[in-house]
Amino acid sequence: MNRRDMLKSTGWGTAAAFLGWMPGKNNALAQTIDQVNKGQPPLKITRVRPILTAPQSRIRLVVVKVETSEPGLYGLGCATFNQRPLAVKTAVEEYLDPFCRGRHADQIEDLWQTAYTSSYWRNGPVLNNALCGLDQALWDILGKRANMPVYQLLGGKCRFAVDCYAHASGKDLSALEDSVRKHRENGFRHIRIQVGGYGSPHLSSKPDPEAEEFGKPVESHMDSRPYVLATLKMFERIRDRFGEEIELLHDIHERIEPIEAIRLCKELERFRPFFIEDPFAPEAIGYFRMLRQQCGAPIAMGELFNSPHEWTGLITERLIDFIRVHISQIGGFTVARKLAALAEWFQVRTAWHGPGDVSPVGHAANAHLDLAVHNFGIQEAVQFNEAIREVFPGAPTIKNGYLHVNEAPGWGVDLNEDLAKKYPLPDNPGYWLPTRRRDGTAVRP
Ligand code: MG
Repeated sequence: MNRRDMLKSTGWGTAAAFLGWMPGKNNALAQTIDQVNKGQPPLKITRVRPILTAPQSRIRLVVVKVETSEPGLYGLGCATFNQRPLAVKTAVEEYLDPFCRGRHADQIEDLWQTAYTSSYWRNGPVLNNALCGLDQALWDILGKRANMPVYQLLGGKCRFAVDCYAHASGKDLSALEDSVRKHRENGFRHIRIQVGGYGSPHLSSKPDPEAEEFGKPVESHMDSRPYVLATLKMFERIRDRFGEEIELLHDIHERIEPIEAIRLCKELERFRPFFIEDPFAPEAIGYFRMLRQQCGAPIAMGELFNSPHEWTGLITERLIDFIRVHISQIGGFTVARKLAALAEWFQVRTAWHGPGDVSPVGHAANAHLDLAVHNFGIQEAVQFNEAIREVFPGAPTIKNGYLHVNEAPGWGVDLNEDLAKKYPLPDNPGYWLPTRRRDGTAVRP
């Protein structure tokens, strides 16, 4: 049965004829249907392969390239899992590639659904990243076929560019002030403020001497009280110095006890934060209801989420203000656009995780979604170094605090494979090393 007969048999023929839309009529839909009936062969996937590269030291980028039956037509997707890149590589090479070969490249939803359940067990970070690599590459291909940027396929821009926030930090408050000032001079209106690094001596108690022998010397130590006190002082100082014009963000990074995080959020509320990020670990999301009942500080959550079971309740119960998932960790662009649509109806805004361990392809995907969804909130963004820009021509750019995408079809980002080979992954496996309490207890991020 050809497409014309199918339209008739499903009743669409009758409705279309009534509306004057039957093939052969002189209108756009008729022309499209006629093109389909000319029997052009469907675009098939011929190969799915991972490309690993580390142009920015320590960061292990994984990009999936989907090749098609049309010579020269391919798509790119981000599958970066900095702590387990070789596991993602195996998942793509050994499982996704054989699964996808010969399937239709333009059936994105079906490919996502069937690849998602092809392992039966699902929603883990390794397979979700591999799946995202496939999924984003298919959207890239669709954009290239349509000769449009991907945001256009979602209905077009809601805003001229993507407002993003910068990271300010320093070993003490003076250094932090300098960092904030520099970002203000570069046009940023939203700035995340942190003193020291996570677990830095500035925010930490020294470990007990015996605990220094516990674990490995490279591991860091922190106690929650020095961190909480330093964070309150930090907000007071930066608000005092920079006034109300600036939007302040802060990441608790899940490292204190839930009840301490609730108390900290309550105390920070008077400094009018734009959002407080990740007050609880994913295992402690039951505390969000308690937090909401006590505190009006805007809350962002989700960079460690992998599964719809984690975000659905937080959104539908209006327990958070920003959904902050890492798009490759949740399985791709297809999932993220549905998540954004769910969140819109509960007045939850998007703030996709956008650190250095997202490839420029992934940052572009974040930005295309940011441009097209009404409930966009803010975007975390990074400045790429020169090596990244050479390996990934067309990577998004930041100007005056706004992220801009390349307007070429698809994501607008390419990958120079020869150059990528010049930046092999670092020798070490890339573990997320533990931070410990004074007595040596490992803290869950
Ligand atoms: Mg974070």
